[in-house]
Amino acid sequence: MQVLLANEYGFCFGVERAVEMVEEAVGEGAKVRALGPLIHNEQEMQRLAHEGVTTINLPSEIDPSETAVIRAHGVTPEVQRELEAKAKNVVDATCPFVTRVQKLAARAADKDRHVIVVGSPEHPEMIGVKGYAPEHAFIIKDESEVASLPRLRNPLVVSQTTIKAKTFFDTAEAIKSKTDDEVEIINTICSATRDRQDAARALATMVDAFYVIGGRHSSNSVKLLAVCKESCEKSFLIETEEEIDADDLIGVEKVGVTAGASTPNWLIDKVVKRLEDIGRSFELILKP
Ligand code: SF4
Repeated sequence: MQVLLANEYGFCFGVERAVEMVEEAVGEGAKVRALGPLIHNEQEMQRLAHEGVTTINLPSEIDPSETAVIRAHGVTPEVQRELEAKAKNVVDATCPFVTRVQKLAARAADKDRHVIVVGSPEHPEMIGVKGYAPEHAFIIKDESEVASLPRLRNPLVVSQTTIKAKTFFDTAEAIKSKTDDEVEIINTICSATRDRQDAARALATMVDAFYVIGGRHSSNSVKLLAVCKESCEKSFLIETEEEIDADDLIGVEKVGVTAGASTPNWLIDKVVKRLEDIGRSFELILKP
């Protein structure tokens, strides 16, 4: 049985960078506390907790002896200031792609322009971006919400980093009806999610079974499973190697593996090893 990994899988650039920054702070002996879960993966959170990294829900919970971590989604300038005032150190792990959206929103607001961000208003990334242009920014989910916008002044349209391109461009087009000014449209979608889906889709046509490694509550992992199922009916979403049932692999010649953007490499390695072990055990049974 051949085990094949998708061309793109696992940690995205922003999450990998955040975890590395946290590990560096831990290595320097700091007591590290992240504002909100650093990563949506239970096993990786447990590993980090073992290293002494814990989570707080509010900036007020930080102690002056501790290092606070801003995760990849970013925060509002107000929250950042509060952390800087209270914590011993602040590790700002905001993903540079998110920082770009924050800066674009702040610059447009400085010029008294309206900013429309296409995304989910309740998503932490969007709450942070809104904080950079509180009086000028509107967060809308899609084109169905354009009607609720007021008349717009020199609008800038940007996007949450993880939304679908079609949603963004359809909404941006609809926004043109809300102004007599020119609409500036800047696509700020990050390609990490799409790249992982494209790679999984390509591999799913070549294998007999597919394992997606990721949290059951991780939306990008659930979406990866749906993509795999389009071409490979025997696709499974698993959190650890222990969930693999060898019976599912009887008669399978090629098995694909991918992982959500919050799944660490050490977990992926364990799954690949278990699949290879199962493959070897089948070979031994088949040998005369
Ligand atoms: S998905 Fe993209 S924008 Fe979000 S943290 Fe990862 S690299 Fe950054």
